Amino acid sequence: MRAPQARRRVLFSRPDGVTGATLLRALRRGDRRALARAITLVESSRPDHRDKAERIIEALLPETGKAVRIGISGPPGAGKSTFIERFGLVGIALGRRIAVLAVDPASKRGGGAILGDKTRMAELTRAPEAFIRPSSAGGTAGGIARRTREAILLCEAAGFDAILVETVGVGQAETAAAEIVDMFVLMLPPAGGDELQGIKRGIVELADLVLVNKADGELAPAAHRTVADYTSAMGLIRPPYPEWRVPVRAVSALKGTGIREVWDDVDRFRAALQHTGAWSRRRVEQARAALWSEIGDSLLDHFRAAPAVAQRLAALEQEVMAGTRTATLAARSLIASFLGKV
Ligand code: GDP
Repeated sequence: MRAPQARRRVLFSRPDGVTGATLLRALRRGDRRALARAITLVESSRPDHRDKAERIIEALLPETGKAVRIGISGPPGAGKSTFIERFGLVGIALGRRIAVLAVDPASKRGGGAILGDKTRMAELTRAPEAFIRPSSAGGTAGGIARRTREAILLCEAAGFDAILVETVGVGQAETAAAEIVDMFVLMLPPAGGDELQGIKRGIVELADLVLVNKADGELAPAAHRTVADYTSAMGLIRPPYPEWRVPVRAVSALKGTGIREVWDDVDRFRAALQHTGAWSRRRVEQARAALWSEIGDSLLDHFRAAPAVAQRLAALEQEVMAGTRTATLAARSLIASFLGKV
C-alpha cells in the first residue's frame, strides 16, 4: 500500500540531502547516481538510513522482480571479473541493461575493496547500459545477503534486467548468494583433479551452470580436461532441477569465446524453469527463507541487547566454555531471562 504523495515526501525527507521523492523519481528513470545513493542507504547501519531504505524499497516493490538474477562465484583468479566484463558487454549488445553487484565478505576494508583496482571491468564501467557496484564489505553472511537482496530490488526498479551478483572465494558467502539468485554460475580455472578437490562439493551441488574459463592458448587442453572431469562429476550429483541438465562449458573471457552461449544458457534455463513453475517456486521459497532469516537476525539483535541477557551472557558463556554448564541449560536460562520469566 502506498502512502499519499504528501505523506511520502515527509517520510522520505532528505536521505543524504535529497528528498526521497526526488530520489525515487530519479531511480525509476534509471538514473545511476540515484541508484547508487539508494544502495548506500540500504548498506548503512544508521537506523534513520535503514528506515528510509525500507520505505524506498516498499514504494518500489511493485516495479521489481522482472530481471534475471545471476550469481557468479568461483575461486580468486578464476577470471570472474574478466568474464563479467565480457559477458556484460555481450549482454548489452543483445539489448540488455546490466547491473553488477560485487560482494567481498572477506574484505574488512570499506566499499570498493573488490573493485579497488580501477582496471576491473573498465569498459563495462563506462557503458551507459551498465551499473557496477561493489558491496560495502564486512558483516555477517546474513547481513550481506539482506543488503544484496535489497540492492537487487533497487536495480530492478531502476530498469536493469540482468543482475549479476559476483562473490569471491568459495564458502559461506556462495551459499548465501545462491539463495538470492535465480541462477547460480560456478566459474573455475583449468585445474587438475587434485586442485578440484578444494572446491567444496556443496558449492558444486548449487551450480546451475559450470564454466571452465581460460580455454585459450596453452591452457586450452587443461580447460577441456577440466570440463570432461566436471561433466562426469556432475553425473554423480543429483541435479538441482529435473527439467535442467547442468551444462559444463569451456569459455575464454579473454578471447570472448563461449560467452554468447552463456546468455543462451541463461535464456534456456529461465524458459525451462518457467515452463514447469520452478522459477517462481524458487523465488517464493527464497522469500520465505529471507523472512525467517530476518526474524532470526532481528531476534538475536534484540536478545543480545536486552539488559537481562547482557548482564548474564558473558558469565554463562564462560561456564559453557569451561564445561561447568551445558549449552542447553545456559541457553534455556538466558532465554527465560530474555522473556522476563526469571
Ligand atoms: P577473478 O579474481 O576471478 O575476478 O579473476 P580476474 O578476472 O581478475 O582474472 C585473473 C587473471 O586471469 C588475470 O590475469 C586475467 O587476465 C586472467 N584471465 C581471465 N580470464 C582469462 C581467460 O579467459 N584466459 C586467460 N588466458 N587468462 C584469463
